[in-house]
Amino acid sequence: IKVQPYRPQEFIDFTQPENVAAYQAALTKVRAELVGKHYPVVIDGKAVKTKEKLQSINPCDTSEVVGTTGKATIQDAEAALEGAWKAFESWKKWDVDARARILLKAAAILKRRRLEACALMSIEVGKNYAEADVEVAEAIDFLEYYARSAMKYSGFGSSETTWFEGEENGLMSIPLGVGVSISPWNFPCAIYLGMLAAPIVAGNCILAKPAEDAGLIAGFVTDIMYEAGLPAGVLQFLPGVGKEIGEHLTNHARTRFITFTGSRAVGLHINEVAAKVQTGQKWIKRVVMELGGKDGLIVDETADLDNAVTAAVQGAFGFNGQKCSAMSRLIVVDDVYDAVVNAFVERAKALKVGTGEENANVTAVVNEMSFDKIEGYLKIAPKEGKVLLGGKALGQAGGKKGYYIEPTIVGDVRRDSRLAQEEIFGPVVAVIRAKDWQDALDIANSTEYGLTGGVCSGSRERLEQARAEFEVGNLYFNRKITGAIVGVQPFGGYNMSGTDSKAGGPDYLSNFMQLKTVTERW
Ligand code: NAP
Repeated sequence: IKVQPYRPQEFIDFTQPENVAAYQAALTKVRAELVGKHYPVVIDGKAVKTKEKLQSINPCDTSEVVGTTGKATIQDAEAALEGAWKAFESWKKWDVDARARILLKAAAILKRRRLEACALMSIEVGKNYAEADVEVAEAIDFLEYYARSAMKYSGFGSSETTWFEGEENGLMSIPLGVGVSISPWNFPCAIYLGMLAAPIVAGNCILAKPAEDAGLIAGFVTDIMYEAGLPAGVLQFLPGVGKEIGEHLTNHARTRFITFTGSRAVGLHINEVAAKVQTGQKWIKRVVMELGGKDGLIVDETADLDNAVTAAVQGAFGFNGQKCSAMSRLIVVDDVYDAVVNAFVERAKALKVGTGEENANVTAVVNEMSFDKIEGYLKIAPKEGKVLLGGKALGQAGGKKGYYIEPTIVGDVRRDSRLAQEEIFGPVVAVIRAKDWQDALDIANSTEYGLTGGVCSGSRERLEQARAEFEVGNLYFNRKITGAIVGVQPFGGYNMSGTDSKAGGPDYLSNFMQLKTVTERW
């Protein structure tokens, strides 16, 4: 297969008026063609009519139903599993180049429909233009990157073994079988697509369970995979309720592996359920987990403070803090605390709250449950620190009823308080005062999570200490702590943040393969 070396997509520059106009035209097109659409459950390449439907609501205007998906039942999940195992018999024998071509073709289609995918997410989950664009770019990158990675695993001898006289020895990578991919709503295009494309190109078949809040964009990209030529049964599209079909499939004896991205609570539950061997089960289920974070950025007295404040604003409020990598803790050493925090508050004051469609800086959070949860944290904020900015759950912006939360900064938060330790997943930042650099690093390492973190410092010695001692899967120096790029910054955390599978990294596909050593005596 002839391919150029992998290069990440460039982002669209929305300071250019023609790009803004193109985005607005895409919004109009999506409103005319996709809003109101129904995406059915798809099993073995056929649309399945379900008795019930799931509604997708616009979080920035809760009076709007964006569209619907089917709601898969337990019987649908059973049929999907059966069909996927049948499909696996031939899919696992496909030439790896042929499997990779499907991902490359899907990438080409998504490139052509890039702005439509973006616009759909602006309406379905409230992403502003740049946030949506970065996500669709990431989705394309996953397809391009995993297509190339797959080739590395093809054939006998794809991994090194030592020569032994009189024998031929070698390692083969083989797919696992049929797995379930359960994804979150916050990156409903990129993570959803990446989590199914990787195991599929490695030769597995997938039952994809998207998050309820973002079923339309999942349906949109699933259709692109079918259009690119994915055979029936290799990808079963199963929108449904996590607690019903997700739970059922996690338990199932015929589920070979589960790839999950979502909250710590659900992830740990799945891990526990999957560990129990069911009657007739022939394997130890493999579980790949990408969970939450409580990510901190340290600013010390040697840092370029202006740069540090930019990093803090971008990391905290991009997509309203609804990123596993979001900077939810700003840890500032005492010497520069006032200067940094005052500038941070000033900069955050300028953020405009509004809809994704009007390209506001901060939009509505995804649903009522999230809104209520964040409101709960806003209530305890004055007890755990000083509210320096925001603090209110608005519920309305620009005349639209939606799940709006004011960008909120809470200063002098106690390091062991709930605000400093629990994932809030909204535009709420806990600022923590550290005595000095060492204290700041201790605070940064004081959560049970280990996803992203950062240091803004001019000291080489401290950066090197952080490189060794800051306990996170993705560590950033002198920049924001969000926005990992596929292939450039392989992404994933450890401790309670997951199994550190490193999506978009050189070994990610090995999560979905097993190795066989074959020896022939000559
Ligand atoms: P979530 O509530 O844990 O849901 C994730 C998925 O699990 C959804 O598809 C959900 O379905 C499903 N689910 C719920 N209960 C289940 C069960 N008992 N069995 C099987 N599946 C079940 O998470 P979320 O609110 O969508 O996403 C936000 C979380 O994801 C945050 O904690 C964030 O940090 C984390 N995240 C991590 C990463 C990373 O790379 N580490 C990336 C993105 C997000 P329903 O929609 O039907 O409930």
